[in-house]
Amino acid sequence: MKHDDENLDDEFPEGDGTAQTEATVICPYCAEEIEIAIDPGSGPQQLYVEDCEVCCQPWRVSVHYDEAGQAEVVVSVLDE
Ligand SMILES: [Zn+2]
Repeated sequence: MKHDDENLDDEFPEGDGTAQTEATVICPYCAEEIEIAIDPGSGPQQLYVEDCEVCCQPWRVSVHYDEAGQAEVVVSVLDE
């Protein structure tokens, strides 16, 4: 196994059960506090679209995992 790209998040605890798998966010449309599932297996940096389960408006979801497996999740209005 090659090991020459050490900056590439090799500390990321993917799959060992320590990474965060859910997060609480505030919907930018309806202001409801909502718990969403997040997937550490998709990588330390993620950007995708998900619909609010309360008001069904589309969010842009940005997920960033740090080296400890803690996720920072930001949701914003999609059409910005
Ligand atoms: Zn909403």
